[in-house]
Amino acid sequence: MQNPSWFLYGPGVAKIEDRAIPTIGDSHDVILRIAYVGVCGSDVHFWKHGGIRKVVSPERPLVMGHEASGTVHSVGPDVTSVKVGDRVAVEPGFPCRRCKACKDGVYNLCRQMRFAADPPDTHGALTKFYAAPEDFLYKIPDGVSLEGAVLVEPLAVAVHATRLGSVRPGQDVIVMGSETIGLMCGAVAKAFSANRIILVDIVEKKLEFAREHLKCETFFYDIKSTSEDNATGLLNAFDIADGVDAVIEASGAETSIQSGIHLLKLGGNFVQAGLGKPKIEVPIIDLSTKELHFHGCFRYSSGDYELALKLLSKRDISLRPLISSVTPFEQATTAWDKTGKGEGIKNLIQGVKD
Ligand SMILES: [Zn+2]
Ligand SMILES: [Zn+2]
Repeated sequence: MQNPSWFLYGPGVAKIEDRAIPTIGDSHDVILRIAYVGVCGSDVHFWKHGGIRKVVSPERPLVMGHEASGTVHSVGPDVTSVKVGDRVAVEPGFPCRRCKACKDGVYNLCRQMRFAADPPDTHGALTKFYAAPEDFLYKIPDGVSLEGAVLVEPLAVAVHATRLGSVRPGQDVIVMGSETIGLMCGAVAKAFSANRIILVDIVEKKLEFAREHLKCETFFYDIKSTSEDNATGLLNAFDIADGVDAVIEASGAETSIQSGIHLLKLGGNFVQAGLGKPKIEVPIIDLSTKELHFHGCFRYSSGDYELALKLLSKRDISLRPLISSVTPFEQATTAWDKTGKGEGIKNLIQGVKD
């Protein structure tokens, strides 16, 4: 095979198939040799259900994968920022560059975005060769491995969320949900010199990880108790009288969102980073009378990848402990299963070997 690629045909049906090696279409295009691809919750959702809002079909199978690192294989004639052999992290969504959102610098909101592994036909990076425009590739600093560079994608999500929460030195921050994105938000808040950083989850094992590897404080969320009681319990446990400056909600769970609003001080910042049910009940009177700032949050935008890489290279953030396993390319489905069963934090799939 010249370009083996993992195609998803529907729920639980995926196979490696060959396809043409991508060619340089635009003079700023780069062809990469993929080194590692990370597995995240959305991959598991695709593997179990065939997609999220749009689904794949046997007629229109889709190449999976959106968290990727690789080395530059070839470059278009006008490429100046990378050269053959460079190691890069991939920002896997390419906006149209012409719409209002793109011109305003919030290209993550571009409605013509071509995001990796998006049905019906924007193929992903779980393949041998992958094409991307040069300005969506980021050279990896010397101290960062190709494995670690896969984590720049979720770290950029955390950078975006923490920035939206206007987290500043000395502030108190609560992160609801302690999976990959929640853990990374905790790490970014720490790099931003927040004072107290409290990670919350309903699974004690995840909190243990947060305490051990991020040196954050943690709170076990009792799902049998109300959202108000959980919030009061947390504030009492940490002796916080007036609420915290920022809540980053990374679980998407309804009660967690409700608690987050109760946990904020007057005028505090709420960032909704997790995606859950499309409609939920919100303590709207609290939100209004406390004049909270409620921020939607979607992927990452201008400058987020750059900052994520800087935090990694300055060793403000160490992501090594988050990598739980590396699976050979040919066994990618076992990596999806692992993540689906909640095994490990970040499971990686290795690129095609020669
Ligand atoms: Zn992801
Ligand atoms: Zn656009």
